[in-house]
Amino acid sequence: MLLISCPNCGSRDETEFHYGGQAHVPYPENPNELNDREWAEFLFYRDNTKGTFAERWLHSTGCRQWFNMLRDTVTYDIQAVYPMGTPRPATAAPNAAESGTASLAADSTTTGTAGPSIAAPSTSATSITATSTTQSGTTAPEGATK
Ligand SMILES: [Zn+2]
Repeated sequence: MLLISCPNCGSRDETEFHYGGQAHVPYPENPNELNDREWAEFLFYRDNTKGTFAERWLHSTGCRQWFNMLRDTVTYDIQAVYPMGTPRPATAAPNAAESGTASLAADSTTTGTAGPSIAAPSTSATSITATSTTQSGTTAPEGATK
């Protein structure tokens, strides 16, 4: 369960938000000049970053506003929340290491340790059960209501 800090509403539960994909993917200036491959890459190809990733989020059950977030895809640490249209904030160095992580043994070790640590920050067994209940709560409203 993530606690996401909406720039307009403050900290709210993850279930109030919708993920909107990678941030900073600009619409092509001249789409008609793109060939099929370039157009397909714009439409469908996104980075699959291990580590700090800039992504878009919508506070769908709150202020209904989009914003950007820097999140670590390994640890789920939210490093920054910033408005749409503003440049990605600078982050610490780990960015340089993350592009080559797949081939490095040390980093795959890091990944191995990161897995358990994702479960660990849930702070207690109660929040784990809370997560499982809210997940079923998350899927139910999509199919049932709205
Ligand atoms: Zn909001």
